Amino acid sequence: MLKEIAVRTSRRMEFIDITAAVDEALSEYGADSGICTVFVPHTTAAVTINENADPDVVSDMLDHMEKLVPEEAGFSHSEGNSDAHIKSSLFSPSLTAIVEDGRLKLGTWQGVYFAEFDGPRSRKVWVKYIKG
Ligand code: ZN
Repeated sequence: MLKEIAVRTSRRMEFIDITAAVDEALSEYGADSGICTVFVPHTTAAVTINENADPDVVSDMLDHMEKLVPEEAGFSHSEGNSDAHIKSSLFSPSLTAIVEDGRLKLGTWQGVYFAEFDGPRSRKVWVKYIKG
């Protein structure tokens, strides 16, 4: 069994908090205690866990990623989105988290983010729960 979350992005680069959607997928599983994998089946997007309290953290991360890997840097890939492929691999298309009491076991200031690097697009995220 696999749960799928639909994500619609509206900018070329943005982070979307999907913590509640992942918890909802876990609820559909009837999850209690175990491990959860959150996987993005795209080559120009990623998932990450980071602060969801101060929105400046997300904007700082996006601004700094653009400086670290600029969109235009003389890449060869004809699609013109090599920066997005690099950013996807830097962040990773998957993460694993602990599930307790049917929900993600996160730190006080943490949230799960879908990271878009080549939007706007319609995206999906797969969630797999393993009891244990
Ligand atoms: Zn490409």
